[in-house]
Amino acid sequence: MLAPAARIAAVQKHPEFAEHAEVTPAARIATASHGWRAKCLQRLIRLDLPVPRTVALPFAAVRAIAAGHRPDAAAILAAFGPGPLVSIRPSPENPDWGGPGTMLNIGLNDERHRQLAETHGQAAADALYLRFVQAYAIHVARLDPDMFDGTEPSAEALRAALRAYEQETDEPFPQDPALQLTQALRSMARAWEGTTARLLRQAKGAPADAGLGLIVQAMALGMGLGVSGSGVIQFVDPVTGTRQITGRYLSQSLGRDALDKGPDTLYLTRDPRGPSLEEHAPGLFADLLRYGAACRSRLREEMQIEFTIENGALSVLDAVRVPRSSRAGLKVAVALAEDGVIGRDEAVLRVEPRALSELLHPQVDPRGGRDVLVTGIAASPGAAVGRITFSSAGAQASAARGEPCILVRRETAPEDIRGMHAAAGVLTERGGMTSHAAVIARGLGLPCVVGAAGLRFDPRDRCLIAHDGRKFREGDIITLDGTAGAVLAGEAAMLAPALDGDFRKLLSWADEFRDIGVRANADTPADAETARDFSAEGIGLCRTEHMFFETDRLIVMREMIFAGSATDRAAALDRLLPMQRADFIHLFDIMAGRPVCIRLFDPPLHEFLPHTREGLRELAEALDRPLSEITRRAEALAEFNPMLGMRGVRLGVVLPEIYEMQARAIFEATIAVGRRGVIVVPEIMIPLVSAVREVELIKTRIDSIAAQVRTKRGADFAYRLGVMVETPRAALRAGDIAQHVAFLSFGTNDLTQMTYGLSRDDAGRFMSAYVSQGVFPEDPFHMLDVDGVGELLLIGAERGRGARPDLTLSICGEHGGNPESIAFCRRAGFDYVSCSPYRVPLARLAAAHLAL
Ligand code: PEP
Ligand code: MG
Repeated sequence: MLAPAARIAAVQKHPEFAEHAEVTPAARIATASHGWRAKCLQRLIRLDLPVPRTVALPFAAVRAIAAGHRPDAAAILAAFGPGPLVSIRPSPENPDWGGPGTMLNIGLNDERHRQLAETHGQAAADALYLRFVQAYAIHVARLDPDMFDGTEPSAEALRAALRAYEQETDEPFPQDPALQLTQALRSMARAWEGTTARLLRQAKGAPADAGLGLIVQAMALGMGLGVSGSGVIQFVDPVTGTRQITGRYLSQSLGRDALDKGPDTLYLTRDPRGPSLEEHAPGLFADLLRYGAACRSRLREEMQIEFTIENGALSVLDAVRVPRSSRAGLKVAVALAEDGVIGRDEAVLRVEPRALSELLHPQVDPRGGRDVLVTGIAASPGAAVGRITFSSAGAQASAARGEPCILVRRETAPEDIRGMHAAAGVLTERGGMTSHAAVIARGLGLPCVVGAAGLRFDPRDRCLIAHDGRKFREGDIITLDGTAGAVLAGEAAMLAPALDGDFRKLLSWADEFRDIGVRANADTPADAETARDFSAEGIGLCRTEHMFFETDRLIVMREMIFAGSATDRAAALDRLLPMQRADFIHLFDIMAGRPVCIRLFDPPLHEFLPHTREGLRELAEALDRPLSEITRRAEALAEFNPMLGMRGVRLGVVLPEIYEMQARAIFEATIAVGRRGVIVVPEIMIPLVSAVREVELIKTRIDSIAAQVRTKRGADFAYRLGVMVETPRAALRAGDIAQHVAFLSFGTNDLTQMTYGLSRDDAGRFMSAYVSQGVFPEDPFHMLDVDGVGELLLIGAERGRGARPDLTLSICGEHGGNPESIAFCRRAGFDYVSCSPYRVPLARLAAAHLAL
């Protein structure tokens, strides 16, 4: 680090640190040295827009000024001709990093005030001078703003302000423009170095040494005797992206007046409520339209133009990218590509994949107010308004009445599925990104907030208590914002989803570029339809157990579980077989020949049993057995560690009839649709494998079922067998396992759970503490842990392909839809990712970004 004096010398000597440069088409102006505004103004000047004369001070010069170096104000002012009035505006490298407020009218003094009264009228001259004296007093001399509060412009107010300045500073108001400029530059340069400003911009991603450029520009006054005023104009709607002129214009104003004043007196375009610029000065209005078109085609962006009109002369002071919502961003990108302004590849790159989820679901309108009751984990995007209901039965009743409801539970269990189907949104007090509620809600495209621990849920009193003590009862209306992970009181204003032609067009362009496949996790026909509508290339994971939670099947399922003998079990399975076959026929038909990967039964059996005494009693009745026997059998099925217990392939090994029924149903469905011309090669996946012998056993049995079905039905078919890699051991032994199968799909939910030894259903309780203390950089159920779990993926992929080079590799855990995981899998040579249907568009776009 140089001492300040040495630094100033360096600043003066080094040609790159030239203190100021007039912004001309040829000048050397760069964003990295002069800031975004300087660069942007240079582009406007190159487009021949009427930008007032502009001088840019680079970061190095501003840094030197902050350190005490005196800028050569006279030389800067000389660039503007005699008696100039100038403004100073900040120009950091990135517009989001803020900067000190603009200073206007530097150079105004008693003499210029007199001249202005002649050229622009006394009232305008007084108003301008008063405004400058106040701004200088507050921002440069740092006087108390209260002294100048609420003063209406008048000759008297001006005299009072000049007097107040003199009294407070013991000096008359500075009359030397060079001194005014020097002091204003110094105060802005120092404001940038202040601690608060530094912290604010660092929070927005600015580096510790972020620089500030300053722009000195000739003033365009916006006040005077002829047509005068200022405003902004843009050519697309910032929320919807539709092409339409919006903006504001305020006669006899300058700076941000038009933006800060209420909308009722400001009309840019024809408006029945009052006179507009369009009618008042059609020639100038037409010029603005031309400038907008020039910006669009040459800067290849929709720009918002800030302008001033002084006695009929139009100046463009600035043009910035129109700030926009995600949906507007997508529409603008597609429109620019369709008009040939940018290429399709660039349109694809201009849309952030994560922004798509905002388009798929209704959203809380950002323009409305937000009364936030609690925040939790944003488990499934979108927003819904509905009445609180605390039970699945209540949700179903509400749906039957056609009344949207939000299902609020401590956590959800498989028997809540029907309630979730019926609800408009789901809120749970507990749980994390892969808890039951989160996974199911994402699959259903239902907004969901989990882990809302700040909300006290009192099931006995049937009410929710917010952190500020407000109570909400069943039937009260709330808004669930699953995108932001927030619960809002009452009914918030909403924006409808935007799955329009532009959305589909952009994604079809993305498909032209991407080089990794995207499938969907789909368990039901409805999921499959969503997956197909979002152009998934197939189903990468069909969790068959979800098919057994329908009421009619649940009873048969329970009969199967309680079967006293193999014969009784076979009888129950015989009743399940046609139902499963019908499920698969339906799925195959919807997917119309695209690959469908079916996972054999996975969860522990007791998940299908009732959890309440009342439920057990109903079951005893249905099965015509004594309650004591049912209770005893249910207790016997309970496990200390169900996720590490009798589930997945372990059930397949111990109770082979279930997998055999499923394989038969798959093969019979394949033949049935094949006879109608839908040719499917079903993929059958074995869950929770940890030993190669498990695979050998299951493969032998499935091959034998295939042979039986072929013979019995007199038809041939092919199928592919695969293993779901969900235990660390399966990843380590992938070389052996691959010799028996055609594909490996990494189930990173369980693999994360087992690699960390971290329960996916309980981690939500302490995950935020772990992340905030930096133990984990992110929730590993949300963001793939590339260092640990990722290494197992790489080992599995390498050993698997080593044994069988044509092995298909994929990921089907919840991570499959994350852009970061997609990048990881693509680098590791995976064939496809599979994610919830509603994440398919995001995955398609993210994959295209990686390939471009
Ligand atoms: C997984 O474990 O990653 C997976 C996809 O299966 P499930 O979430 O059904 O356990
Ligand atoms: Mg799993």
